[in-house]
Amino acid sequence: MQTFLVLIYGLLIGSFLNVCIYRIPRNESISFPPSHCTNCKNRIKWYDLVPVISYIFLKGKCRYCGEKISVRYPLIELTTGVIFLALNIEYGLSFSFFKYAVLVCFLIVIGMIDLDTTDVYLKTTLPGIIIGIILIITGYFIGYYFKSDMLYYAYGGLLGGGLISLIILLTKGMGWGDAEICLLTGLFLGFKLTILMLFFAFVFGGFIGVLLVLLKKKSRKDYIPFGPFISAAGIFTILFGEKIIAWYIGLF
Ligand SMILES: [Zn+2]
Repeated sequence: MQTFLVLIYGLLIGSFLNVCIYRIPRNESISFPPSHCTNCKNRIKWYDLVPVISYIFLKGKCRYCGEKISVRYPLIELTTGVIFLALNIEYGLSFSFFKYAVLVCFLIVIGMIDLDTTDVYLKTTLPGIIIGIILIITGYFIGYYFKSDMLYYAYGGLLGGGLISLIILLTKGMGWGDAEICLLTGLFLGFKLTILMLFFAFVFGGFIGVLLVLLKKKSRKDYIPFGPFISAAGIFTILFGEKIIAWYIGLF
């Protein structure tokens, strides 16, 4: 029952993330006005807002004007729901579950907005960094972290933000937004998992970058935003990081 409820919450929160991804770059409020079709402006009724299911019933079109609804909306709802489910199976309803669920939400919103606009917004990263710091302190006060853990997570943030800042200063190959995302993610992941997250961000980025050039979708001079790769690497590390580290240590 608990896992089922977590899945439902995940789907609903995924639906809210869609609103954030669409509205934040347009400087619109994320709470007002209520959901409406972006084409005909008709207000969307509650029964057309059921995550994933409404999309299927509406066959991916607006009920009023027939405008196509991007398949991305149900996909983001489903992705959020499934990740929440996986986190619940792994961590129950513990502090780690909530911490990682919050981080996943930030990474999905920041990564998708960067993919759409090639911009990272401080109004998405700054709240994440502040919440990350609050969670470290909260974790200590509820007895979930030792005092040394607080430093461990702070170092995660410093490593992520620091390494990318260094790369920016040396090569100008990345943006300050990328440093903000890595600082944010590091605060949630802690030192060890941040190393892994950075590694996968460069692997994913390099692999997809080369693939896009080979497929002639992009030329070598084109700008490819790095934020989506950091987000993907962050989520990948949340889900598989501990297992990968355990496997790696087992090799020796
Ligand atoms: Zn419409």
